[in-house]
Amino acid sequence: MIRSMKISFRAHKETIDRLFLCNRVSGEVWNQCLELSKETHLKTGKWITKSELQKQTKGMFPIHSQSVQAVCHKYLFARDATNKARKVGYKNKYPYKQKKYFNTKWANNGFKVFENGKIELSMGIFEGKRQAPLTVWIKEVPVGQIKEIELIFDRQLLLSIAYENNQIIKEHTFENRAAIDVGEVHTIAAVAENGENIILTGRKLRSIHRLRNKRLAELQRKMSKCTKGSKQWIKYNRAKKYVLSKSEKQLQDGLHKTTHQFVNWCVENEVKEVAFGDIDGVQRNTSRCKKKKVRRRTTNQKLSNWSFGKLYAYLKYKLEVEKIKIEKHDENYTTQQCPCCAKKRKVSSRLYKCPCGYSNHRDIHGASNFFAKTFYGEIRELDFNLKQTKYLRIA
Ligand SMILES: [Zn+2]
Repeated sequence: MIRSMKISFRAHKETIDRLFLCNRVSGEVWNQCLELSKETHLKTGKWITKSELQKQTKGMFPIHSQSVQAVCHKYLFARDATNKARKVGYKNKYPYKQKKYFNTKWANNGFKVFENGKIELSMGIFEGKRQAPLTVWIKEVPVGQIKEIELIFDRQLLLSIAYENNQIIKEHTFENRAAIDVGEVHTIAAVAENGENIILTGRKLRSIHRLRNKRLAELQRKMSKCTKGSKQWIKYNRAKKYVLSKSEKQLQDGLHKTTHQFVNWCVENEVKEVAFGDIDGVQRNTSRCKKKKVRRRTTNQKLSNWSFGKLYAYLKYKLEVEKIKIEKHDENYTTQQCPCCAKKRKVSSRLYKCPCGYSNHRDIHGASNFFAKTFYGEIRELDFNLKQTKYLRIA
């Protein structure tokens, strides 16, 4: 399985300057892609082909030929993605923005990694001369075969290393199915067929979200009071980027912990298949926010969409390692319906209670209904008895 990690590195001052230059050159390659594509389109009315783009950029830039190609590929990928989106009715724009910097990528022939953490990044041949490689040092070399190295900027230059971690996909004979209901920001409620059920609360994640939103709103308000591009504005903008980058790291960390715990729970309970309830979670968030200001609603939804997406992505790859299937189910299941008497009622407290005698924790009730809807095709009582709910809090 290919994994990637961002790491900092050490290098001579002079090398750092050359690395910045690499990303500037990659930016030029990107701009050249835009230019060539536009020219071709004006002349012939057609899109520039991959081979034509590669031919016309080859040998033109003082970085490794594979690094040039990587930018071309990214351009083509962005263009094709826009094409696809437009075909189904979206009004996406084709890549048009000039870039000052662009991440430089070194593919398999472009770098050498030594056991002591030394990495040589090749600059290839330019105007007939082999150029001196760039040498950087990292603290720890990832275990496994390194596939790609990308030079990225996140408040400082970092390396993003993609590597094959040689994880062997496990064989097992798990039989249980499970359903998870993703509630308010980062709460996983899950029900498994052996009766086990769990609630993972992400209080920490919620507080990071909240604090981040508060800080961003504050900076946004300050920025709106000064001229765009002014010294003060730039200062606030830098602070904004800092808040975003820091909170993203914290959120990612928390998401990793949450999903890790959930995967462990799946393995413990011999789960072979997980149904992921998504849409309703988002809808629940929006309906609750409708009462508040409009602006609040949009930012909240954006964040929760982002988090749900990440949560799903993390779960997917972690579960895959354990050979557990996960699938998104978009159909609308309702948490309002009672599985015993089919009456609908609004849930206002933590407990879902029906006059017919049925009662359950709200989130577990949601996950149960989702389980029934997904695996039985209708909301009804489960074929198994639920055991006592376990709670896990992510510190
Ligand atoms: Zn009922």
